[in-house]
Amino acid sequence: MLTANEHYKAVFERKMYKASISFAATCPNRDGTKGTGGCIFCSAGGSGEFAAGPGKSVTFQIDEAIEQVSGKAGTDAGYIAYFQSFTNTYCSPEKLAAALDEAIAHPKILAASIATRPDCIPDGILKVLAKCAEKIPVYVELGLQTSSDIGAKLINRCYETCEYDEAVKRLKAVGINVITHVIFGLPGEDEEQMLETVRYAVQAGTDGIKFTCLYVLKGTVLEEMWKAGEFEVLGQEEYFDIVEKAIGLLPPEVVIHRLTGDGPKKLLLAPMWTADKRGVINYINRRFGL
Ligand code: SF4
Repeated sequence: MLTANEHYKAVFERKMYKASISFAATCPNRDGTKGTGGCIFCSAGGSGEFAAGPGKSVTFQIDEAIEQVSGKAGTDAGYIAYFQSFTNTYCSPEKLAAALDEAIAHPKILAASIATRPDCIPDGILKVLAKCAEKIPVYVELGLQTSSDIGAKLINRCYETCEYDEAVKRLKAVGINVITHVIFGLPGEDEEQMLETVRYAVQAGTDGIKFTCLYVLKGTVLEEMWKAGEFEVLGQEEYFDIVEKAIGLLPPEVVIHRLTGDGPKKLLLAPMWTADKRGVINYINRRFGL
Protein backbone atom coordinates (compact mmCIF):
# COMPACT_ATOMS: atom_id res chain seq x y z
CA MET A 1 0.00 0.00 0.00
CA LEU A 2 1.15 3.50 -0.85
CA THR A 3 0.73 5.98 2.00
CA ALA A 4 0.36 9.74 1.63
CA ASN A 5 3.71 10.27 3.37
CA GLU A 6 5.45 8.00 0.85
CA HIS A 7 3.69 9.75 -2.01
CA TYR A 8 4.64 13.22 -0.73
CA LYS A 9 8.23 12.13 -0.16
CA ALA A 10 8.42 10.93 -3.77
CA VAL A 11 6.84 14.09 -5.19
CA PHE A 12 8.20 16.83 -2.90
CA GLU A 13 11.29 15.09 -1.46
CA ARG A 14 10.39 16.20 2.05
CA LYS A 15 7.80 15.75 4.75
CA MET A 16 4.59 17.60 3.99
CA TYR A 17 2.03 19.07 6.36
CA LYS A 18 -1.39 20.48 5.69
CA ALA A 19 -2.26 24.08 6.48
CA SER A 20 -6.04 24.12 6.84
CA ILE A 21 -7.80 27.16 5.44
CA SER A 22 -11.39 28.25 6.03
CA PHE A 23 -12.52 29.64 2.70
CA ALA A 24 -16.04 28.52 1.80
CA ALA A 25 -18.87 29.31 4.18
CA THR A 26 -21.55 26.99 2.88
CA CYS A 27 -22.41 24.40 0.24
CA PRO A 28 -25.30 23.85 -2.19
CA ASN A 29 -26.56 21.13 0.06
CA ARG A 30 -27.20 23.61 2.83
CA ASP A 31 -28.28 26.83 1.16
CA GLY A 32 -31.27 25.34 -0.68
CA THR A 33 -29.67 25.16 -4.15
CA LYS A 34 -29.49 21.37 -4.00
CA GLY A 35 -30.84 20.67 -0.56
CA THR A 36 -31.19 21.98 2.94
CA GLY A 37 -29.75 20.75 6.21
CA GLY A 38 -26.66 19.26 4.59
CA CYS A 39 -25.49 15.65 4.59
CA ILE A 40 -26.86 13.89 7.65
CA PHE A 41 -23.42 13.41 9.22
CA CYS A 42 -22.05 16.89 8.58
CA SER A 43 -21.64 19.30 11.47
CA ALA A 44 -22.49 23.00 11.34
CA GLY A 45 -18.79 23.67 10.64
CA GLY A 46 -18.99 21.80 7.33
CA SER A 47 -16.36 19.21 8.28
CA GLY A 48 -13.75 21.88 8.88
CA GLU A 49 -13.57 22.32 12.64
CA PHE A 50 -9.78 22.26 12.62
CA ALA A 51 -9.23 25.32 10.45
CA ALA A 52 -8.37 28.74 11.88
CA GLY A 53 -11.72 30.28 11.04
CA PRO A 54 -13.27 32.41 8.34
CA GLY A 55 -12.71 36.14 8.03
CA LYS A 56 -8.93 35.86 8.17
CA SER A 57 -6.79 36.17 5.07
CA VAL A 58 -5.44 33.05 3.38
CA THR A 59 -1.88 34.13 4.20
CA PHE A 60 -2.75 34.71 7.85
CA GLN A 61 -4.38 31.29 8.12
CA ILE A 62 -1.41 29.56 6.48
CA ASP A 63 1.03 31.33 8.83
CA GLU A 64 -1.11 30.38 11.83
CA ALA A 65 -1.31 26.71 10.73
CA ILE A 66 2.45 26.56 10.12
CA GLU A 67 3.12 28.11 13.51
CA GLN A 68 1.04 25.39 15.17
CA VAL A 69 3.14 22.52 13.81
CA SER A 70 6.50 24.27 13.44
CA GLY A 71 7.87 22.57 16.57
CA LYS A 72 7.61 19.07 15.15
CA ALA A 73 7.75 19.94 11.44
CA GLY A 74 11.16 21.64 11.42
CA THR A 75 12.38 24.08 8.80
CA ASP A 76 12.66 21.63 5.89
CA ALA A 77 8.96 20.73 5.84
CA GLY A 78 6.70 21.75 2.99
CA TYR A 79 3.04 22.65 3.28
CA ILE A 80 -0.16 21.98 1.39
CA ALA A 81 -2.76 24.74 1.37
CA TYR A 82 -5.80 22.75 2.42
CA PHE A 83 -9.13 24.33 1.56
CA GLN A 84 -11.02 22.05 3.87
CA SER A 85 -14.45 23.08 5.11
CA PHE A 86 -17.70 23.14 3.14
CA THR A 87 -17.55 23.26 -0.70
CA ASN A 88 -14.52 25.26 -1.76
CA THR A 89 -15.39 25.54 -5.45
CA TYR A 90 -18.88 26.83 -4.70
CA CYS A 91 -17.96 30.40 -5.61
CA SER A 92 -17.01 32.49 -8.62
CA PRO A 93 -13.89 31.43 -10.54
CA GLU A 94 -12.38 34.86 -9.75
CA LYS A 95 -12.79 34.36 -6.01
CA LEU A 96 -11.21 30.91 -6.10
CA ALA A 97 -8.38 32.12 -8.35
CA ALA A 98 -7.57 34.97 -5.94
CA ALA A 99 -7.46 32.59 -2.95
CA LEU A 100 -5.28 30.08 -4.78
CA ASP A 101 -2.93 32.79 -6.04
CA GLU A 102 -2.54 34.07 -2.48
CA ALA A 103 -1.82 30.55 -1.21
CA ILE A 104 0.70 29.82 -3.96
CA ALA A 105 2.52 33.06 -3.24
CA HIS A 106 3.32 31.83 0.26
CA PRO A 107 6.93 30.57 0.24
CA LYS A 108 6.14 27.45 2.30
CA ILE A 109 3.21 26.30 0.16
CA LEU A 110 4.19 23.61 -2.34
CA ALA A 111 0.76 22.22 -3.23
CA ALA A 112 -2.96 22.89 -2.86
CA SER A 113 -5.71 20.53 -1.81
CA ILE A 114 -9.30 21.57 -2.35
CA ALA A 115 -12.28 19.78 -0.84
CA THR A 116 -15.45 20.00 -2.86
CA ARG A 117 -18.42 18.21 -4.42
CA PRO A 118 -18.42 16.67 -7.91
CA ASP A 119 -21.42 18.80 -8.92
CA CYS A 120 -19.60 22.07 -8.14
CA ILE A 121 -16.90 22.08 -10.80
CA PRO A 122 -18.23 24.10 -13.74
CA ASP A 123 -15.90 24.92 -16.64
CA GLY A 124 -14.80 28.29 -15.22
CA ILE A 125 -13.72 26.66 -11.95
CA LEU A 126 -12.01 23.82 -13.80
CA LYS A 127 -9.96 26.39 -15.75
CA VAL A 128 -8.83 28.02 -12.49
CA LEU A 129 -7.81 24.65 -11.05
CA ALA A 130 -6.00 23.70 -14.26
CA LYS A 131 -4.09 27.00 -14.28
CA CYS A 132 -3.08 26.46 -10.67
CA ALA A 133 -1.95 22.91 -11.52
CA GLU A 134 0.47 24.38 -14.06
CA LYS A 135 2.29 26.01 -11.14
CA ILE A 136 2.04 23.50 -8.28
CA PRO A 137 0.49 20.05 -7.75
CA VAL A 138 -3.24 20.37 -7.12
CA TYR A 139 -5.32 17.77 -5.32
CA VAL A 140 -9.10 17.91 -5.45
CA GLU A 141 -10.91 15.97 -2.75
CA LEU A 142 -14.35 14.70 -3.72
CA GLY A 143 -16.85 13.61 -1.08
CA LEU A 144 -18.26 10.45 -2.62
CA GLN A 145 -18.95 8.64 0.68
CA THR A 146 -20.93 5.89 -1.06
CA SER A 147 -21.41 4.64 -4.60
CA SER A 148 -24.98 3.61 -3.81
CA ASP A 149 -27.58 6.11 -5.01
CA ILE A 150 -29.97 4.70 -2.39
CA GLY A 151 -27.36 5.34 0.28
CA ALA A 152 -26.68 8.77 -1.20
CA LYS A 153 -30.36 9.64 -0.86
CA LEU A 154 -30.40 8.44 2.72
CA ILE A 155 -27.45 10.63 3.66
CA ASN A 156 -28.96 13.57 1.73
CA ARG A 157 -25.88 13.90 -0.48
CA CYS A 158 -27.96 15.55 -3.21
CA TYR A 159 -25.98 14.54 -6.27
CA GLU A 160 -26.06 11.43 -8.43
CA THR A 161 -23.12 9.03 -8.33
CA CYS A 162 -22.61 9.41 -12.10
CA GLU A 163 -21.71 13.08 -11.48
CA TYR A 164 -18.72 11.83 -9.48
CA ASP A 165 -17.46 9.77 -12.48
CA GLU A 166 -17.81 12.77 -14.74
CA ALA A 167 -15.94 15.05 -12.31
CA VAL A 168 -13.06 12.57 -11.92
CA LYS A 169 -12.65 12.40 -15.73
CA ARG A 170 -12.72 16.19 -16.18
CA LEU A 171 -10.30 16.84 -13.32
CA LYS A 172 -7.81 14.22 -14.42
CA ALA A 173 -7.95 15.51 -18.00
CA VAL A 174 -6.44 18.82 -16.81
CA GLY A 175 -3.77 17.28 -14.60
CA ILE A 176 -5.50 17.37 -11.22
CA ASN A 177 -4.84 14.63 -8.69
CA VAL A 178 -8.19 13.30 -7.42
CA ILE A 179 -8.69 12.09 -3.87
CA THR A 180 -11.97 10.37 -3.01
CA HIS A 181 -13.58 10.45 0.43
CA VAL A 182 -15.33 7.25 1.45
CA ILE A 183 -17.27 6.60 4.66
CA PHE A 184 -17.64 3.12 6.16
CA GLY A 185 -20.57 2.41 8.47
CA LEU A 186 -23.31 4.48 6.82
CA PRO A 187 -26.83 3.45 7.89
CA GLY A 188 -28.22 0.60 5.81
CA GLU A 189 -24.87 -0.33 4.24
CA ASP A 190 -23.33 -3.74 4.66
CA GLU A 191 -19.68 -4.59 4.15
CA GLU A 192 -20.22 -5.57 0.53
CA GLN A 193 -21.65 -2.14 -0.30
CA MET A 194 -18.75 -0.41 1.47
CA LEU A 195 -16.24 -2.41 -0.55
CA GLU A 196 -18.26 -1.79 -3.70
CA THR A 197 -17.80 1.95 -3.13
CA VAL A 198 -14.04 1.44 -3.05
CA ARG A 199 -14.13 -0.61 -6.27
CA TYR A 200 -16.25 2.11 -7.83
CA ALA A 201 -13.79 4.87 -6.96
CA VAL A 202 -10.89 2.82 -8.31
CA GLN A 203 -12.71 2.14 -11.57
CA ALA A 204 -13.57 5.82 -11.92
CA GLY A 205 -9.83 6.53 -11.81
CA THR A 206 -9.27 8.10 -8.40
CA ASP A 207 -5.60 8.76 -7.61
CA GLY A 208 -6.05 8.63 -3.88
CA ILE A 209 -8.53 7.67 -1.20
CA LYS A 210 -9.48 8.76 2.28
CA PHE A 211 -11.31 6.28 4.48
CA THR A 212 -13.39 7.48 7.41
CA CYS A 213 -15.44 5.64 9.98
CA LEU A 214 -18.87 7.18 10.25
CA TYR A 215 -19.03 9.15 13.47
CA VAL A 216 -22.03 10.77 15.07
CA LEU A 217 -21.75 14.46 15.88
CA LYS A 218 -24.02 16.56 18.07
CA GLY A 219 -26.57 18.63 16.22
CA THR A 220 -26.71 16.44 13.12
CA VAL A 221 -29.61 14.44 11.67
CA LEU A 222 -27.44 11.40 12.25
CA GLU A 223 -27.58 12.09 15.99
CA GLU A 224 -31.37 11.73 15.93
CA MET A 225 -31.16 8.50 13.91
CA TRP A 226 -28.53 7.07 16.21
CA LYS A 227 -30.48 7.98 19.34
CA ALA A 228 -33.59 6.37 17.81
CA GLY A 229 -31.57 3.16 17.38
CA GLU A 230 -31.84 3.20 13.58
CA PHE A 231 -28.25 2.04 13.14
CA GLU A 232 -25.16 1.10 15.09
CA VAL A 233 -21.72 2.59 14.71
CA LEU A 234 -18.76 0.36 13.85
CA GLY A 235 -16.39 -0.94 16.49
CA GLN A 236 -12.67 -0.35 16.03
CA GLU A 237 -11.85 -3.96 15.10
CA GLU A 238 -14.86 -4.19 12.81
CA TYR A 239 -13.97 -0.93 11.05
CA PHE A 240 -10.35 -1.85 10.43
CA ASP A 241 -11.34 -5.32 9.18
CA ILE A 242 -13.25 -3.52 6.41
CA VAL A 243 -10.37 -1.11 5.83
CA GLU A 244 -7.99 -4.04 5.43
CA LYS A 245 -10.25 -5.60 2.80
CA ALA A 246 -10.60 -2.22 1.07
CA ILE A 247 -6.82 -1.80 0.91
CA GLY A 248 -6.68 -5.17 -0.81
CA LEU A 249 -8.85 -3.74 -3.61
CA LEU A 250 -6.54 -0.81 -4.35
CA PRO A 251 -4.04 -0.88 -7.19
CA PRO A 252 -0.51 -0.15 -5.91
CA GLU A 253 -0.47 3.37 -7.36
CA VAL A 254 -3.59 4.56 -5.50
CA VAL A 255 -2.45 6.64 -2.54
CA ILE A 256 -4.07 6.09 0.86
CA HIS A 257 -4.36 9.55 2.35
CA ARG A 258 -6.21 8.51 5.48
CA LEU A 259 -7.15 5.25 7.21
CA THR A 260 -9.63 6.94 9.49
CA GLY A 261 -10.69 10.38 10.62
CA ASP A 262 -11.31 11.89 14.01
CA GLY A 263 -14.30 14.11 14.63
CA PRO A 264 -14.15 17.23 16.78
CA LYS A 265 -14.07 15.95 20.37
CA LYS A 266 -16.53 18.51 21.69
CA LEU A 267 -19.17 17.32 19.22
CA LEU A 268 -18.42 13.60 19.09
CA LEU A 269 -21.09 11.20 20.40
CA ALA A 270 -20.00 7.88 18.87
CA PRO A 271 -17.99 5.78 18.28
CA MET A 272 -15.83 6.96 21.17
CA TRP A 273 -12.80 4.90 20.13
CA THR A 274 -12.27 7.44 17.34
CA ALA A 275 -11.62 10.11 20.00
CA ASP A 276 -8.56 8.28 21.29
CA LYS A 277 -6.27 9.54 18.54
CA ARG A 278 -3.07 8.17 20.05
CA GLY A 279 -4.71 4.78 20.71
CA VAL A 280 -5.98 4.62 17.13
CA ILE A 281 -2.55 5.54 15.72
CA ASN A 282 -0.91 2.83 17.85
CA TYR A 283 -3.53 0.32 16.71
CA ILE A 284 -2.94 1.25 13.04
CA ASN A 285 0.82 1.01 13.45
CA ARG A 286 0.53 -2.44 15.04
CA ARG A 287 -1.99 -3.77 12.59
CA PHE A 288 -0.73 -2.29 9.33
CA GLY A 289 2.97 -2.11 10.20
CA LEU A 290 3.23 1.63 9.52
S1 SF4 B 1 -20.44 17.04 3.79
FE1 SF4 B 1 -19.91 18.63 2.30
S2 SF4 B 1 -21.63 18.59 0.83
FE2 SF4 B 1 -22.33 17.52 2.67
S3 SF4 B 1 -23.33 19.13 3.89
FE3 SF4 B 1 -21.20 18.98 4.61
S4 SF4 B 1 -20.13 20.55 3.44
FE4 SF4 B 1 -22.08 20.16 2.36
